[in-house]
Amino acid sequence: MTAAIIDGKAFAAKVRGEVAAHVARLKEEHGIQPGLAVVLVGEDPASQVYVSSKGKSTVEVGMKSVEHKLPADTSEADLLALIARLNADSSIHGILVQLPLPGHLNSELVINSIDPAKDVDGFHISNVGLLGTGQKSMVPCTPLGCLMMLRDHHGSLAGLNAVVVGRSNIVGKPMAQLLLGDSCTVTIAHSRTKDLAAVCRGADILVAAVGRPEMITGDMVKPGATVIDVGINRIERDGKGKLVGDVHFDSAKEVAGAITPVPGGVGPMTIACLLANTLTACCRANGLPEPKGLTA
Ligand code: NDP
Repeated sequence: MTAAIIDGKAFAAKVRGEVAAHVARLKEEHGIQPGLAVVLVGEDPASQVYVSSKGKSTVEVGMKSVEHKLPADTSEADLLALIARLNADSSIHGILVQLPLPGHLNSELVINSIDPAKDVDGFHISNVGLLGTGQKSMVPCTPLGCLMMLRDHHGSLAGLNAVVVGRSNIVGKPMAQLLLGDSCTVTIAHSRTKDLAAVCRGADILVAAVGRPEMITGDMVKPGATVIDVGINRIERDGKGKLVGDVHFDSAKEVAGAITPVPGGVGPMTIACLLANTLTACCRANGLPEPKGLTA
């Protein structure tokens, strides 16, 4: 059996198209343009690439994009003052502070200073609490993208056994909450889990968010399961740099029913969901109906 490939690149393009169409309608019918502000502190090369690609995608769907690039030695007071200005700016509906921040800045304090209604990363403690109690919140982009792909593939997820490998605050935990919200029976596995292979083999839906190249192998996958690979790992193979996931794709695809590739699976969905969250935040701020199919 060879698994169906879940094409995250194509799905993300569809989501971006739906966001763009909604943005165009907002402009035409209400004279409103959603706005996203991205704040980058320091010159981390990977973060610079992420920020410029977020800005480009934001403009492509017709939203206003604002980038604040601050020097690495920016004080916490100056950063908090900028966030306060963005919180008060009615043309900005989403605020994203690119992580990681330089060591002298308290990330928790900074993230929790963002207006929760504009917290399009879904990392503010209020949004974490709202998601955990099944209430309307801003949902972290990567798990939201995984949920969208799973709903698209399965229709209803109710009653399926889901195993999430990884318990980070940005992927594993919110992913588990979202699957629980869709009535899966959820297990969260981590580095102290006993007999991880057996736990994984019980999964109808297996989400790998571990950060270890190709750790989940085909023998850990239940025949016919849907495998979502969140991992992005840069490795050297045959003298060349290569991106691989947390799942050993070649062995897992022989057992799984469906699987996301790396690259081209979860990755492209993350930015698409950032745009979807910004649109949702804008609709909520203006008392307008939320876009269908683009929220949890
Ligand atoms: P973290 O390092 O924060 O968390 C990793 C989790 O994996 C931890 O909970 C850890 O357990 C668990 N883990 C580590 N080793 C093992 C093991 N041997 N067996 C079982 N569990 C283990 O990572 P993130 O959640 O931030 O990211 C996970 C992956 O997803 C990374 O590859 C990252 O690059 C990628 N990523 C991709 C994104 C995208 O857009 N596609 C976005 C965000 C992340 P414990 O808690 O016990 O230490």
